[in-house]
Amino acid sequence: MGKNLSEFPVQYIKGVGPRRAKLLNTLGIKTAEEALYYLPYRYEDRKNIKKISALEYGRLETVIGKVISAEVIRLPRRNMKLFELTVSDGSGLVKGKWFNQPFLKKNFEVGQEVILSGVVKRNPYWGIGFEFDNPEYEFVTDDADAFIHTARIVPIYRTTSGLSVRQLRTIMFNLINTCIKEVSDCLPEEIRVRHNFHGLTESIFNSHFSESGADIDSLNSGASIYQRRLYFDELFKFELGLSVIKRGKKVEKGIAFSSDGVLVRKFLGALKFKLTSAQQRVFDEILNDMRTPCPMNRLLQGDVGCGKTVIAVMAMLTAAECGYQSALMAPTEILAGQHYINIHKMIEDMGLKVCLVTGSKKSEREALRCDIASGKINIIIGTHALIQEGVEFKNLGLAIIDEQHRFGVMQRQLLRKKALNPDILVMTATPIPRTLSMTLYGDLDYSVIDELPPGRRPVITRLFNAGQKEYIYRAIAEETKKGRQVYVVYPVIEETEKTNLKSAIMGREALEKIFPKLKVELIHGRLKPQERENIMASFKSGAINLLVSTTVIEVGVDVPNAAMMLIVHAERFGLSQLHQLRGRVGRGGSQSYCFLLMYEPLSEDARRRLDIMVKTNDGFRISEEDLDIRGPGEFFGTRQAGMPDLKLANIVRDAKLLDSARKEAFALIDKDPELKSFPELKKGLEMFWKGKIELFKTG
Ligand code: ADP
Ligand code: MG
Repeated sequence: MGKNLSEFPVQYIKGVGPRRAKLLNTLGIKTAEEALYYLPYRYEDRKNIKKISALEYGRLETVIGKVISAEVIRLPRRNMKLFELTVSDGSGLVKGKWFNQPFLKKNFEVGQEVILSGVVKRNPYWGIGFEFDNPEYEFVTDDADAFIHTARIVPIYRTTSGLSVRQLRTIMFNLINTCIKEVSDCLPEEIRVRHNFHGLTESIFNSHFSESGADIDSLNSGASIYQRRLYFDELFKFELGLSVIKRGKKVEKGIAFSSDGVLVRKFLGALKFKLTSAQQRVFDEILNDMRTPCPMNRLLQGDVGCGKTVIAVMAMLTAAECGYQSALMAPTEILAGQHYINIHKMIEDMGLKVCLVTGSKKSEREALRCDIASGKINIIIGTHALIQEGVEFKNLGLAIIDEQHRFGVMQRQLLRKKALNPDILVMTATPIPRTLSMTLYGDLDYSVIDELPPGRRPVITRLFNAGQKEYIYRAIAEETKKGRQVYVVYPVIEETEKTNLKSAIMGREALEKIFPKLKVELIHGRLKPQERENIMASFKSGAINLLVSTTVIEVGVDVPNAAMMLIVHAERFGLSQLHQLRGRVGRGGSQSYCFLLMYEPLSEDARRRLDIMVKTNDGFRISEEDLDIRGPGEFFGTRQAGMPDLKLANIVRDAKLLDSARKEAFALIDKDPELKSFPELKKGLEMFWKGKIELFKTG
């Protein structure tokens, strides 16, 4: 067979052919190499052969014996045929039963020695005796290595209709045996030895057809040294790619901002509070990046309300002082508008010009375009309209992306192209476990604000059902009497027959009736931007008591006097959404409350989400729990553009492995940036990242 497994179609593997190749393709297996890495999703221990007399009901057991009889029986009542095999090992009898597979009979002869594996049952009529339904079977031959389906730890693969697990297992066995010699191992020997990994050939083989001494539990939890080697390889290539990208940015020329901090000092002097030490530390890290002549690529992570905006402003002032423009990009118009209002106010009297660019204000944008292009405007705030439409900057030096989870790597790249390698700061309030941020943002440096401003009191969160609404209304009445404002959040704008959910429009009407003396307003995504802005401004000024909304207020909105939030149909919201929403209160000095109103019955996951919300305010714990409930795939939602899939490794299960893969990868690229001494590895790496990002510039 050909040398290159990655180009060898599975169709030409023994026992496959065109029909099965199609089925394999639907499993994502097109080439021999893909087949080698199509690992079992679990394993069954069928290696301990028991005496039939010692079988235990309900357990998965394996026996060996001689065929006493093999018969097809008609079951007239159910119009079915039953193939029944009786096997004896001298200690007792066991029956194997297969429904509607009469053709199996021709495989068996009386007197032949066979192995059967299955879950032990009683005869349904007599209540005694031993039986297997649809057992796995294998014929005893002289060649002990030839056992594939029984008498060993058996791999169980996910398969598709038209291809049984047994057939697939046979294919895999043949395939591995014919191809394994062609596998070339590109993991540097030194790294392999350092981590006590086995060779690649051995690791692949044992991840499928494990040797007899293997531990079934460690295989099933992905912890065997052979599986780990394969996961490591994948993570290593992943991290190598990130390392190459990151290094590529480091050697690019960027701007060395040489401010002496006049504007920042002036700004801090006018601020009503002192920076927390975490804010100070993070700003120092950013400043350090800005001063060096290569482009900054930094992720700033910090829980809702920790004060990231101030840091963003300080960075933008630094750029402005050096004569460069800054852009701040937010995921929604509401948030961009909020940033604009806040920032505008903060730096009003510094002689700087700030503007807002969003998709919906076409006419204004035209007017602004000239001023941005000429450099009249220093700080440009906006949505992704900033990069999508023809906005030209005079000299963009710093780009800040807020709430990164809605932007991808590609958009960052686009923004970069708007100027000559501006510094980039990505801010996110979605706290994710450290190992995960390494994966998602592995090409970025990392800063974290792990401290809230002093005097914040943790929001008190309570869970209510529909029968307890009166209590909530009383609490709202009391809170508004004290002059505080309240958010009421609904999952949908309008009720539809399909969803049958309480809606924001209905909620507003109902609340107006319940609280005739209060000013109730409604905000949602279908309003015109100007209307939304007016409502937000008027809420901020205190003129509105109750703001009914959909999740448009989820991120970034900052009204410290709002001290209570009611989330209706809380069971319908995701955990990170609930956390973001709750982050809108608890921003002032007074005790804030978050009421979760649930409509039963709840799913088990919904119950877990609400319980954890009541239990903690800690964003990191919440995101870990979220990850646990949803699994890594769904947690990340739409996959990060530009990132290869991880097919084998699981960043949650393999967090430690990821960490060491990252260290090894970064160290190797440090030593040998273009992998000159590792041509095989370089090839493998390019394959892995193919079509995503060009890693090594050719030529
Ligand atoms: P986020 O990190 O969620 O974007 P913001 O930047 O919106 O947080 O800040 C939340 C609130 O905390 C704002 O009202 C801001 O003025 C205030 N704030 C920020 N830093 C401090 C600080 N060091 N001390 C007191 N209040 C602060
Ligand atoms: Mg923010």
